[in-house]
Parts: sequence; C-alpha cells; structure tokens
Amino acid sequence: PLVLGIETSCDETGIGIVRGRTLLANTIASSMDEHARFGGVVPEVAARAHLEALTPAIGRAVADAGIRLDDLDAIAVTCGPGLAGALMVGVAAAKSLAVALGKPLYAVNHLVGHVGADLLQGEGLREVAGTAGELELPTVALLVSGGHTSLLLVRDLVSDVELLGETIDDAAGEAFDKVARLLGLPYPGGPHIDRVAADGDPAAIRFPRGLTLPKDLARHRYDFSFSGLKTSVARWVEKAEAAGEPVPVPDVAASFREAVADVLTAKAVAACRDLGVPRLLLGGGVAANARVRELAGERAAAAGIELRVPPLSLCTDNGAMIASLGAQLVAAGSAPSGLGFGADSTLPVTQIQL
Ligand code: ATP
Ligand code: MG
Ligand code: FE
Repeated sequence: PLVLGIETSCDETGIGIVRGRTLLANTIASSMDEHARFGGVVPEVAARAHLEALTPAIGRAVADAGIRLDDLDAIAVTCGPGLAGALMVGVAAAKSLAVALGKPLYAVNHLVGHVGADLLQGEGLREVAGTAGELELPTVALLVSGGHTSLLLVRDLVSDVELLGETIDDAAGEAFDKVARLLGLPYPGGPHIDRVAADGDPAAIRFPRGLTLPKDLARHRYDFSFSGLKTSVARWVEKAEAAGEPVPVPDVAASFREAVADVLTAKAVAACRDLGVPRLLLGGGVAANARVRELAGERAAAAGIELRVPPLSLCTDNGAMIASLGAQLVAAGSAPSGLGFGADSTLPVTQIQL
C-alpha cells in the first residue's frame, strides 16, 4: 500500500511516503534551532513551527516520491506519545487531508513507529544500516531519545508490543543535553558530548550506573534512571570548580558517556538473553552515539545477538517510520481509526493504533 505518514510529536515535522516496505520520501523540518537558547524543546514553539512547516513538507515529500496525493491508499499520523500541542497539529492536518482526499486514516503510536523504521528498504538504506536483510520478529528494541528511554519486546508490529522497561526519571537524551549544558557545550548536547568524549578517558571518573545494584534489579531489571548520574556529574564539576581546578571536560564527557552506554547496552542485551530473543534494534537520537553503538555491537556479538541500527535519518523522529507502521496496519487488514480520536500525549506503547 502507498501510505503518507505525518510525525509531529516533538520538534521534528516529518512527512514520509512509503509503498509497503519501500521508502519513497522522507522530508524533515526541525525547529531544534529555535529551542537552543532555552536548552530544551519549548512545546508552544514546537507546535507553531509544525503549523508553518507541515504544508510545505507535504508538498516536498509528494514531489520527492513522484506520486499524486490521489494515489495514496491511506494516511498515517502519530497520535502519541509526545507533546500534546505538537501532536494536535499533526493530527488536525492528517484529519483534514484524509477528509479532503477521502482516504482512510490510521492514528499510530510514535514508539512503535520507531521500530517500523527498521522495516524500510531503499537505495543505500541497508548499506548504511550495516544490517542486511529484513527485520525478523520477535525483537527487543531499545528506543533512546530526548523524550524517551524504552526497552520493548516486539513480537508482532501491528498486534503485540510489550513494554519491558523505561526510564523512571530523565530520558537518556535529556541527560546528554543537561550534562552538556553543565559542561558549557551547545544544545542539543548529545553530538557535542560525543565529539568531546573522543579525546577523554572513559575510566577517569567512575560515575554511578542507575538501577544496576542487586536490590534495584529485583524491581527494575529493565528500567533506567539517569537523574542520579546527572546530579553526580554536577557535583563532580562543582567540586572541581570550588577547588579552583580546571574541569577536564573531555574526561568528564567520556566518563559520563561510558556510564550511559554501559547501562543502556547491558540492560538491552540482558533482556535479549533472558527472553531468548536473538536480535536487538536501536532507535532514537541517542542511537547516534558512537560509544552506545560500539558497546552495543561488542556486547551483542559476544552474546550471539544480531544488532540492528537503521540509518540516523530513520533513527531520529521522522515521517517515514509512521508511514511504514501505517502500511503494516493496512496490509494486516486493520480497521482505520476514523476521525473521532484525539492526540494522547501519554499513549502507552502497548496501544499500537487508536
Ligand atoms: P522524541 O523523544 O519524541 O523522539 P527527540 O527530538 O528528543 O524526540 P530525537 O530527535 O530522536 O528525539 O533525538 C534527540 C536527542 O538525541 C537529543 O537529546 C540529543 O542530544 C540526542 N543525541 C543526538 N545525537 C547524539 C549523540 N551522538 N550522542 C548522544 N545523544 C545524542
Ligand atoms: Mg528531535
Ligand atoms: Fe522519537
């Protein structure tokens, strides 16, 4: 099926067009720069930016794909989780488009969409991903971005997604952004920490690994916590400054990055082992992190697990992943969502479609 996907859950306005598993277009406009001076995404600013970016983005995607809107079999839109105001803009646009074109509309889950991204085939996609062939199920998926840190067990993309664990406080990307700020690095901090950490010693400072002590593991085996880590970095930097010592930014960045990568990959690989699932999929902006990728690769290989990482343009928020999930729903014969649904900022991951 030919499906257009609309994604506006955070700061990316994404329009994707797919034919089944084939990626035809993936247009992204980001309002990231507008949030930079606030050090984080400002919901009202994001919603307004979506409003301005949507129509041109749809036009560009349609041109890139070389299709006509009339040719579409369905429209898919992210209905949650995410920022309420931002989601509402995409949902309203999708409903208008569906009504105007007389096409069925599928309201889908953003997190499950991230997994749908790995189904896509297209020129150069698999080469970049480094993972040949189609995604087989079940798979464990580790989704790490500025807004979420979730470990999923996906048995069937359109009918069976289980939440194994998630962060109990900050998201991993949020921790990167906050620590970067602490170290005087620009927003968004992830890529800057990654760059600076390359010159640092990851063993210089032993920062805490959240929820990894035996007593925590009993209740939070697959959950994450990054606020203690962030505080620990803040204390360490304050201490150095109070003592009048220069802050060794590369060492702090490398040690912090190591702590995050260690916990993320240890828990994800443990889930694969415990559940007997031989593959692990990474998604979300933090999947761009060099150390996360490297350590995930090492640990997966040691455990005999296939590691899958889609190209970065499909890891960060995008419309193609939403179109991909929509196409799976159409192919599976799922009923469209109608027009009565609304955005749900806290949509649970088990709710694949509204
Ligand atoms: P959502 O949570 O809804 O998916 P988002 O905009 O936060 O929205 P992404 O755009 O996928 O999600 O990811 C952005 C996050 O990824 C930011 O927090 C950014 O710092 C982080 N990030 C990007 N590159 C890297 C990197 N190389 N290392 C670590 N973190 C990174
Ligand atoms: Mg983003
Ligand atoms: Fe996302």
